[in-house]
Amino acid sequence: MKLVSDYFGCMVFDDKVMKSMLSEEIYNTLKRTIKDGRSLNLSVANAVAAAMKDWAISLGATHYTHWFQPMTGITAEKHDSFISPDEGGRVIMEFSGKELVRGETDASSFPSGGLRATFEARGYTAWDATSYAFIKDGVLCIPTAFCSYGGDALDQKTPLLRSMEAINRQAMRVLKLFGNEDVTSVKTTVGPEQEYFLVDKEIFKKRKDLVYTGRTLFGAPPPKGQELEGHYYGVIKPRVQAFMNDLNEELWKLGVLAKTEHNEAAPAQHELAPVFTTTNIAADHNQLTMEIMQKIAKKHDMVCLLHEKPFAGVNGSGKHNNWSISTNTGVNLLEPGDTPSENAQFLLFLCAILKAVDDYQDLLRVSVATAGNDHRLGAHEAPPAVVSIFLGTELTEVLESIEKDEPYGAKEKELMRVGVHTLPKFPKDTTDRNRTSPFAFTGNKFEFRMLGSSASVSGPNTIINTAVAEILKQFADELETADNFETALHDLIKRVITEHKRIIFNGNGYDDAWLKEAAKRGLLNLKTTPDALPYFVKEKNIALFTSHKVYTEREMYSRLEILLESYCNLVNIEAKAMADMAKKEILPAVSKYARALSETILAKKAVCDSLDCSYEKETLTAISTLTANAYASVQALEKALDGTKKVKGAAKLSVYYKDKILPVMEKLRASADELENLVSAEYWPIPTYGDLLFGV
Ligand code: ADP
Ligand code: MG
Repeated sequence: MKLVSDYFGCMVFDDKVMKSMLSEEIYNTLKRTIKDGRSLNLSVANAVAAAMKDWAISLGATHYTHWFQPMTGITAEKHDSFISPDEGGRVIMEFSGKELVRGETDASSFPSGGLRATFEARGYTAWDATSYAFIKDGVLCIPTAFCSYGGDALDQKTPLLRSMEAINRQAMRVLKLFGNEDVTSVKTTVGPEQEYFLVDKEIFKKRKDLVYTGRTLFGAPPPKGQELEGHYYGVIKPRVQAFMNDLNEELWKLGVLAKTEHNEAAPAQHELAPVFTTTNIAADHNQLTMEIMQKIAKKHDMVCLLHEKPFAGVNGSGKHNNWSISTNTGVNLLEPGDTPSENAQFLLFLCAILKAVDDYQDLLRVSVATAGNDHRLGAHEAPPAVVSIFLGTELTEVLESIEKDEPYGAKEKELMRVGVHTLPKFPKDTTDRNRTSPFAFTGNKFEFRMLGSSASVSGPNTIINTAVAEILKQFADELETADNFETALHDLIKRVITEHKRIIFNGNGYDDAWLKEAAKRGLLNLKTTPDALPYFVKEKNIALFTSHKVYTEREMYSRLEILLESYCNLVNIEAKAMADMAKKEILPAVSKYARALSETILAKKAVCDSLDCSYEKETLTAISTLTANAYASVQALEKALDGTKKVKGAAKLSVYYKDKILPVMEKLRASADELENLVSAEYWPIPTYGDLLFGV
C-alpha cells in the first residue's frame, strides 16, 4: 500500500528538495531573497534552475512552463522543452536562471482591457518564488506573475502579491504599537472550500447548453429534487468515491493539502476543502484543484461542473473563502487572546475588519460579481447581494458594552475597558453557526461566502487585504501620535463600533425582512453584475488601490473593461446556445410529437368515430400553444441579440444584456420547460434533470 506521507508533495520542488539539491550557500541566499521579496541574482538563479531541471528530468519531465493566471479565470501555460542541440547533432537538456525567473510571452491573445498597445504585444512572466514549482503531466510548472511589457499587471497574481505586501506593511506598524518586537512579518491565510457537481460524461455530451456554457439553459424540475435533504453529508457513491480517491492522490502529490470531502445539499453536488495556507499559495492551489478536478472526472467518465448555477431550482455552487492574518511567529491575529493586551490587539484587528467591510462593501460585492454568480446571490441558497458581517451574539455584546460604556454580561460589575479586561472565550464551533451571512466570524477567521465556485480567490483576497491594510494604516496613523496609547486605543475602538455597527447582522441573511432592514441602514444592495461593476472605479476605490500600490488607475479601468466584456460574452454565448437548441432540437422534436398525436387522432377516427381522443387532442392543443410561444421567444431573442450591435460601450452593453436578453431567455425557458412536461419521453431530445442529477 502506498503511504500518503511517502508521496505527499513528491511532484513539488519544495523546501526539502531545495535543501538536498542546492549548496548551503545557494539555498540560504534563495531563502533570504524569497523572504525579503527581492529578485534573485543571476548566479543564484542559474544554480536553482540547474537543480530544478535535474530534479524535473529525474521525474520524467521534458518541458517547462511559466504557469500563470491571466484574467480569463483559468490558468495558462506555454510549454518549452528543455532540449538544446549540441555539436554532435544530439541534444542536451538545458534550463537557465534567466529562463527560470523571467519568461517572455505573446500577450496579445489574453484579455488586457486596452492596456496592451497593439504595437507592443509582448508580455513577460516573473517567477513567484514563494510558491513552489511543481510537475504536472510531465511539465515543470513555475508559478509566475504576468505583466505587460510596460509593467501593467495582466493577471490575478500580481495584484494579490502587492496586496499582501500592503497589509504586511500596515499590520506591522500596528503590531509595533503593541510591543510585538519579535514579529518581522505578517501573512494572510486562506482556506477555500470548493463546491462542484459531477455528472455522467455521456449524458453531459448530449446537452449542448452544458457543453457550451457549463449550465443548463433548459430543464424542468425532476420529480425528486433536493427537498429531502438526503444528499448533504450522505453516503458517498462508489463511483464518486473512486473519483475523490484519485483526486486526493493527485492533489497530495502536488502538495495540495486536500483535507475534507463530502456530499453537498444538492444531488450530485460535492465539496472539497483544503487545510488553509498562505494566500498566494492557496490561490495557486485552488486553481490547480479546479483543473485537476476536471481532469480526474473525465478519467472516471464524468464531468465536473464548476459553474455557479448548473441547474435551476437546485442549489448552486459557491466557494467559501476562509481568511485570517497571522504573524511569522505563528500567532493568528484573529484569535482572541488570553491576556488583556492580547485582547485589545484582537479587538483592534477585528474593528479594522468591521470598518474595512463597511467602507468597502461595494468592492467586496464587485469581487464576486460574475454572470454565473448572479444566479446565486440573493436567491435564498446563498448570501444576499448585501454585504454584512456576522459576529455572533457574544462578541456583539462585548462590542456593545464597549460602545455604551456598560457592564458586559450578567456577572461583570465593572465596565469593559479595552486593554484592561480579558474577553470571554468565544466558542469556535458552536452548532448554531450562522450559515447565511456573507462575511462570518468563525472563532479565529472570517468566512467570506459570496464567492462563486468557478472564481479565482485572488480577486476577493486582493480586495480584503487592501481594504484591511487601508484601515490599519488609518489606525496606525492615529495611534502612533497619541499621547496616551491605552486611552486613544479605547476611544478609537469605541468610535469604530459606533460608526460601523450597521454592518453587523447576526440574523437570517436569507430573510426578506433583512433586505428591508439593510436598506434602512444604508447598506448597498447591488443585485447584479452590471449594477455592481461600475463601483470598482469610484473615486474612493481608486484612491484605495493606488495609494497602496495594488493597482494603478490604468490597471483598474482595464480590469473593469475585462470584467464587463466577459459578462457580455458569457450572456451572449448563452443566448445563442439557447436559440440554437430551441430551433434545432426542442422545437423539431415537439413538432414530431405533435404529428404523432395528430396521426393517432386520425387513426382512431378511422377505426371508430366515437373513440375518445381527449388525451391526444388536449395535449396537442397545449403543446401547439407552447410551441408558438417558444418560437415567438426565439424570434424575440434573436432580435434582441441583433440589437446589441447598436449599444456602445461595455457598461451600457452589460446593462442591455441584463435587461433585454436575460428576461427573454427566461421566457423561452419557461415555455420549453412546460413542453418538457407534456412531450413523450421518447420524443424529448435532450437528457432531463433527472438523468443529469441522478445519472452517476
Ligand atoms: P465549514 O464547512 O464548517 O465551514 P470546513 O472544515 O469545511 O468548515 O472549512 C474550514 C476551512 O477554513 C478549511 O479550509 C480550514 O483550513 C480553513 N481555516 C481554518 N483556520 C484558518 C485560518 N486561520 N486562516 C484561513 N483559513 C482557515
Ligand atoms: Mg464553510
